[in-house]
Amino acid sequence: MGGPGWPRVAVIGGGPGGAQCARRLADAGCPVTVFEPRTRFEKACGGGVPARGIERFPFLRDARLPGKEIRQCLVISPSGREARFPLDDPLFVFGRADLHALMLERATASGARLVRERVISFRRATGGRDPGAGRDRWILRSAGTETDPFDFLVAADGASGGTRRRLVTGARREDVSQGLGYYMPRVSEDFITLKFYDGLHGYLWVFPRPDHSSAGICSTLGALPAADLRKLMDDFLRVRYPRRALDHAERYAALIPGAPREPRAVPVQGEGWALLGDAARFVDPLTREGIYYAMLSGDLLADALLRRRPEDYTEAWSRACAPELSWAAGHGGRFFDTRFIERLVALCAGSPAVARVLSDLIAGKQSYRTLKRRLLLSAPRVGLQLLSRALARRRGRAIRKGAPITPARGSSSTDCSADDSCRAAAFQRGHGIRDSDRGRTP
Ligand SMILES: Cc1cc2nc3c(=O)[nH]c(=O)nc-3n(C[C@H](O)[C@H](O)[C@H](O)COP(=O)(O)OP(=O)(O)OC[C@H]3O[C@@H](n4cnc5c(N)ncnc54)[C@H](O)[C@@H]3O)c2cc1C
Repeated sequence: MGGPGWPRVAVIGGGPGGAQCARRLADAGCPVTVFEPRTRFEKACGGGVPARGIERFPFLRDARLPGKEIRQCLVISPSGREARFPLDDPLFVFGRADLHALMLERATASGARLVRERVISFRRATGGRDPGAGRDRWILRSAGTETDPFDFLVAADGASGGTRRRLVTGARREDVSQGLGYYMPRVSEDFITLKFYDGLHGYLWVFPRPDHSSAGICSTLGALPAADLRKLMDDFLRVRYPRRALDHAERYAALIPGAPREPRAVPVQGEGWALLGDAARFVDPLTREGIYYAMLSGDLLADALLRRRPEDYTEAWSRACAPELSWAAGHGGRFFDTRFIERLVALCAGSPAVARVLSDLIAGKQSYRTLKRRLLLSAPRVGLQLLSRALARRRGRAIRKGAPITPARGSSSTDCSADDSCRAAAFQRGHGIRDSDRGRTP
């Protein structure tokens, strides 16, 4: 499929976004050069990839990529209420060094050229290889040498790379999160933990990998001093895990960009260039998930370039993800609202229907935009499940005083003091559901 007509493409950054784009271009015979100084490195990250990501990029199940397939989630509300529920579609957790190495390997195996250097600067040069075309080309400088001109520049240098700032502008402070955490050696449970805090626009996670766990916490940049955020995390981990797990843990801290409320406010491409992944702020502003979006944007950009219509990239991204991510950017306050989380955790503990909604959310199969609607539509079933659970509990109490109660299928709670049927009613009140509304589309 290759040929002399293909543009020469330079990709700055060989993370999941840049490497995926390079692989796709190289597969089609397009001459592509990836500038990436590190062939293997552990980027600060949870490393969680939801089922949606594995379905789109099945090669992530490559035997060379050790990962952990997680089928259970423990969620803890701000007040400490806990619910454990099954993940119908597993979450995959990878070490970033392994993922980085595999993706770069795949790009070079397809014919992408890897330059193991950091790009220090770049400039436009009129003309280049084909002066008759009259289009600008790109000349990059790395380690003191200048490259030959490239026709197209892909900025995939992540959240702290400088390319975005040179081409458009930096991110607004309120669209950036701080993330910090630990790699905890020898801690590798069979479930992920998600812990929420009162007033925190973010959450704490523990993601088990094959031989360690990546534990982290995130919040909007500047909302809380980093030391306070670190303390929340330390306090939680010291109680949950043996002290030595934390003592031998390696710390990390990094910035996480978030998709803006107005996706078109800042362009992600221009004449002869495009941003992707973190450089384009293609990150879920609620979960801070970005690996899938980086790879997807790499795919979409490669598709547009291979169709020789690079200008289609923005539109393709807008159709695929922008509405969902900009909705998320505008509704963070409601999503992290303490009362909402408390109710959700309580309901999740007693109702498989609610647990399934959360499972789909984690798998990336439940849109934020229809989340409330789905919860409302499942209210009658939730009510029945909670009621039958409450009745079973009472029956159990009457028959065998003090005997343990069998939890609802697949979900359980360790701190559910409130009466379940009251919780169902509270849930309906909280969401403005009257009995006559049940089952109706809001
Ligand atoms: C604490 C934390 C936890 C996270 N947890 C998750 C999670 O569990 N799941 C998830 O999906 N996402 C998570 N993310 C987000 C995820 O890490 C990113 O969205 C994802 O890595 C973006 O991929 P990328 O290819 O755009 O950029 P990156 O992965 O950042 O790759 C950029 C690459 O560019 C290279 N580079 C930088 N500057 C230059 C230069 N001048 N020249 C050449 N190369 C350069 C770097 O070496 C790097 O390899 C987390 C992020 C953080 C900070």
